[in-house]
Amino acid sequence: MASEGNPVCRLCRREGVKLYLKGDKCYSRKCPVEKRSYPPGQHGQGMQRKLSDYGVQLREKQKMRRIYGVREGQFRGYMKEAVRRTGVTGENLLQLLELRLDNVVYRLGLATSRAQARQFVSHEHITVNGRRVNIASYQVRPNDIIEVVGEARKIPPLVGAVEASGGRPLAAWLQFDANQFRGSIVSLPKRDEIDTDVQESLIVEFYSR
Ligand code: SF4
Repeated sequence: MASEGNPVCRLCRREGVKLYLKGDKCYSRKCPVEKRSYPPGQHGQGMQRKLSDYGVQLREKQKMRRIYGVREGQFRGYMKEAVRRTGVTGENLLQLLELRLDNVVYRLGLATSRAQARQFVSHEHITVNGRRVNIASYQVRPNDIIEVVGEARKIPPLVGAVEASGGRPLAAWLQFDANQFRGSIVSLPKRDEIDTDVQESLIVEFYSR
């Protein structure tokens, strides 16, 4: 039987898009989605069946959950909060996910993936407004300053991530100073400033059933 490939990469192939879960590899030609866009498994290539509306919504929800690395119950909590807030529910949902500390550490280029960002946060390498925060889901706010603690500025994976992300564009709602290992939240992220490839309206429909 042919090799099934990396289990993390299988998630991307299942969704048919890049979910950016493996750091540098995601930006290289080694990314399996670049080579094989059909679902994983022995019969993956022949399994391009048509999904029901429910199936499409479910897949989109799973895709978004996997991109941000959020568990099912936690995701439902974000959805509830998105509905409770004024404004467009789908945009609220994306905003809540984008403002998680692990996501911001990744977006600033301090980590090559959200999984790595979560690790840096849980190892207390990151401060928010001068205080160490080790909760990946911590919600940051406009004007917050996110910084790498002094001793962590020499950790090879973190230094490597900053070097590797130098060429990546920074989201308009963020500012970053690579020399100081410091970033800030300029404003709340608007939908057109979030490049996550999801149709959030499908996810809102999924939870409206
Ligand atoms: Fe693997 Fe990253 Fe490509 Fe997804 S985007 S298949 S995690 S290398």
